Amino acid sequence: MEYEAVIGLEVHAQIHTRAKMYCACPVVADTGDVPPNTRVCPVCLALPGTLPVVNRRAVELGMMTGLALGCTINPVNVFARKSYFYPDLPKGYQISQYELPLAVNGALEIETEAGPQRIGITRAHLEEDTAKLYHQDDGSALVDFNRAGVPLLEIVSEPDMRTVEEVQAYATTLREVLIYLGINAGDMEKGEMRFEANVSIRPKGATTLGTRTEIKNLNSFRALAASVAYEIERQKAVLVKGETVIQQTLGWDEVAGNTYLQRSKEYAHDYRYFPEPDIPPLEITPEWIEALRAHVPELPLAKKRRLMAEYGIRPYDAALLVGDPRVADYFEAAAGIARAQGVTGQDVANWVGGELFRILNAAGTPIDACKTTPERLATLIALVQQGTVSVTAAKTALGAMCETGEAPEDVVQRLGLTQISDANALTALIEATLNAHPAQVQQYLAGKTNILGWLVGQVMQASKGKANPQDTRRLLQQALEQRNAGL
Ligand code: ADP
Ligand code: MG
Ligand code: ZN
Repeated sequence: MEYEAVIGLEVHAQIHTRAKMYCACPVVADTGDVPPNTRVCPVCLALPGTLPVVNRRAVELGMMTGLALGCTINPVNVFARKSYFYPDLPKGYQISQYELPLAVNGALEIETEAGPQRIGITRAHLEEDTAKLYHQDDGSALVDFNRAGVPLLEIVSEPDMRTVEEVQAYATTLREVLIYLGINAGDMEKGEMRFEANVSIRPKGATTLGTRTEIKNLNSFRALAASVAYEIERQKAVLVKGETVIQQTLGWDEVAGNTYLQRSKEYAHDYRYFPEPDIPPLEITPEWIEALRAHVPELPLAKKRRLMAEYGIRPYDAALLVGDPRVADYFEAAAGIARAQGVTGQDVANWVGGELFRILNAAGTPIDACKTTPERLATLIALVQQGTVSVTAAKTALGAMCETGEAPEDVVQRLGLTQISDANALTALIEATLNAHPAQVQQYLAGKTNILGWLVGQVMQASKGKANPQDTRRLLQQALEQRNAGL
C-alpha cells in the first residue's frame, strides 16, 4: 500500500507594533537587554478591574497580511476568551478570536521542484502572546511579563501540504511575506515566528483525512522539517503494523530527534471559548479595507518573477535578492543604472550577491547602511567591463568604497588599481616572472603546459591584481613560445 502525508500548519507571528495588543506598554524585541517585568502595566499583568483596548495598528497589520494572502476580511470581528491555566497566562485566559476572526479563506502561492502551488489559508486571527517562563535548575521557574500581551497573528493553513519540501517552502515563503509587510523581522531565534505542525497519513488517492497528530512549539525551520519528516515515518510504520494512529499532541525532542507524547485526546484542552465581554465587536468598513489594500507591497514571489523577467537574472539569484526587500531595491537601483552603461542585470546580481554580501556580512552592516550607493556599484562594474580595472582590483576597490564611502574612480586612483593593459609594462612583468621561475619555465617547455595557469597567477600577483588576465595569458604564452623557439 502506498501512503501519502497530509500536513497543515499553524503559524504564530509576533506583530511588531509600538504598543502591546490590549494596553499601551511598549513591545520590546526579545534580545535579553530589557530587564524583566519592566514593560508591564495593570492591564497586561491582569490586575482586577482593568480593561483591554484593541491596538488599531495591530488590526491594520493583520488586515494587510490577510489581504496579501488573498483572504476575505470579516466586516465584523469578535474577540473571544480562550481559557486555560498556566503560569505564563496571568488572566487565566487569552484574548483571541474564534468564531469571527479577522481574515478567512485565502491562499499562499509557493514554489517547489514540482512547480508553483497554492496552499489554502483557513484563517488569520489576532491574539496576545503569553509571558515567558525561565525554568531554573532547582525545578522552580521565573516569569517575565514583558512579552505578555504582545500582539500575535495566528495564520492557519488548510491541510494542503503533502511533503516536507512543501512545508519548508510554505514556511519560508510566509516568513518573507511577513517581513515584506513589516509584521516582524522574521527572527526565529527571538521567537518572532513559531510553528505547530499537524500531520496525518492516508492511502494515496484517498479523499478522507486520516487521524492527525499535532507537534507543538517548533521554533526553527530545522525543527519544523525534521519533526514533520519524523512524524510521517512514525505514522507510516504504525499503519504498516496494522495499528491505528492516535490523535495526540506531541512535542519535538531536538536532541533525540524524535516526537514525544504531550497530551492524548482524553486530556485535550477545553478552552470554553466565549465572546470577550470587555471588547465590543469590531466593525471593519470597506473603505478601511481598501485604504490598507493600497499599502500591500509587491510580494516576494511576484517580485522574484518580475526581476527574472525584467533583468534576465537566474532564478537562484532572484530568490536570493528578494529574501530581503531592501536588497531587492538596492539591486534594482544598481541594475537600472548599470544597464545604461551596457552592464547586464546578471553581472549586477553577481556583484550584489557575491562580493557586496561578503563585505557587508563580514562587517555586520545591513544593506541600507552600506556606504556604497547603487550608482557607485554600477559605475565600478562598468569600469570592470571597460577593462579599466580587473575583477580582483575591483573587489579591493569595493572593500575600500564600503569602508570610506569614496567614489569608485577616486578609490581606483588613490590605490593605483588601474589595470595594466599597456603591453610594455606587462611584458616587463612577464619577463621578470619567467626569469624568477626557471624550473617552471623548463617544465612548460618540456610539455607540462598546464603550468601556464600557475605562471599567470604569479604575474597577477606581481602586478598586485592590476594585470589584465586575458592579456597576461596571451603575452605569457607568446614569451614562452619565443623561449621555445630559442632552444
Ligand atoms: P486546533 O485548535 O485543534 O489546533 P485548528 O483549526 O487551529 O485546530 O488547526 C487545525 C490545523 O490542523 C490546520 O492547519 C488544519 O489544516 C490541520 N489539520 C486538520 N485536520 C488535519 C489532518 N487530518 N491532517 C493534517 N492536518 C490537519
Ligand atoms: Mg492547533
Ligand atoms: Zn501593559
